[in-house]
Amino acid sequence: MPILTIESTCDETAAAVISDNGAVLADCVATQEDLHERFGGVVPEIAARAHLDRILPVIDTAISQAKVSVDDLSAIAVADRPGLAGSLLVGVVAAKTLAVAWQKKLVAINHLHAHLYACQMAYDQPVYPCIGLVVSGGHTSLYHCTSPLDLEFLGGTIDDAAGEAFDKVGAMLNLGFPGGPAVSRLAAQGNPKAFEFPRSMMHRPDYQFSFSGLKTAVRYAIAPPPASKQSKSAKAVDPTTVQLDQQTQADLCASFQAAVVDVLVAKSVRAVKETRVKHLIVGGGVAANPVLRAGLQQAAEKHRFGLAVAPPELCTDNAVMGAIALKKIERGEFADLNLDITAGLQRGF
Ligand code: ATP
Ligand code: MG
Ligand code: FE
Repeated sequence: MPILTIESTCDETAAAVISDNGAVLADCVATQEDLHERFGGVVPEIAARAHLDRILPVIDTAISQAKVSVDDLSAIAVADRPGLAGSLLVGVVAAKTLAVAWQKKLVAINHLHAHLYACQMAYDQPVYPCIGLVVSGGHTSLYHCTSPLDLEFLGGTIDDAAGEAFDKVGAMLNLGFPGGPAVSRLAAQGNPKAFEFPRSMMHRPDYQFSFSGLKTAVRYAIAPPPASKQSKSAKAVDPTTVQLDQQTQADLCASFQAAVVDVLVAKSVRAVKETRVKHLIVGGGVAANPVLRAGLQQAAEKHRFGLAVAPPELCTDNAVMGAIALKKIERGEFADLNLDITAGLQRGF
């Protein structure tokens, strides 16, 4: 029997219907990008209220798209962590309420595990044990995975996530929100060697990442900092007010993107080698980036490991990757009506 999956961790309200053999019967995503664009980032309260508006229509659409009746559903799965508290609450309360009203089993999904599971939707070879790289708006993390549900956190970013850095660079260049896709499009016309940006922590023998120094380097390439001898009150120039020609913008994007990709590829290769696994799986919004995908592919060929990157349409938030709930159902891991959200981003997610 099919399951209904619900995703509302950040600013996408999504529902999908997945059959018990993993076939996608419906995939419905309502994005809120238009609502957050003028603020240059996701505003938590606006996100939560927008989820409230959209969650029932999205679920309704998914069920009718799937051409199933509510009676046909065996379970309702919902992402309960990590994410914005208000956003998570809307999805979890909707799932719990429908589980009671329709008498369905409830399954809790870890959104980051689901991002990695998206790779499995297009890659039917066995990949475990493997290294998992999550590169999203809120996370840049490496895991040692022995199954879709058994992940050991190896390390992650100590400041900005890769996607967040893309978004902030996009904001500095007035490219709209989220900046990642726009930066990546512009980068295609730029020279990745035009600016020399730092590859922070690339050679450190651990699995930590740092992208805030890179973000600052881009900022100062756009608008130099006030000279150090000037008084402390001298204000740095706001990068969004600097007029740059199209080629310089493209060169900045390409050089920034190359720095992010170099670090992500190097650390992932290190993790694959050190744990002696044969596969790397990659998910999250930044995994849609074509230069990252190409860099990972080259590394996989050079170092002879298998690579499974989530299909581009399943990189950013969606409910299809909630198919990971089927793995929980196989194990008999159900949630009860005490299910609460876990917003935090602490280690080990
Ligand atoms: P998390 O999953 O950590 O909770 P999130 O759900 O907000 O965060 P995703 O939806 O996985 O994140 O990804 C969104 C991020 O992906 C944004 O930061 C966006 O800019 C980035 N992104 C999307 N497409 C691209 C691209 N082509 N190149 C680079 N970044 C991209
Ligand atoms: Mg989003
Ligand atoms: Fe996400």
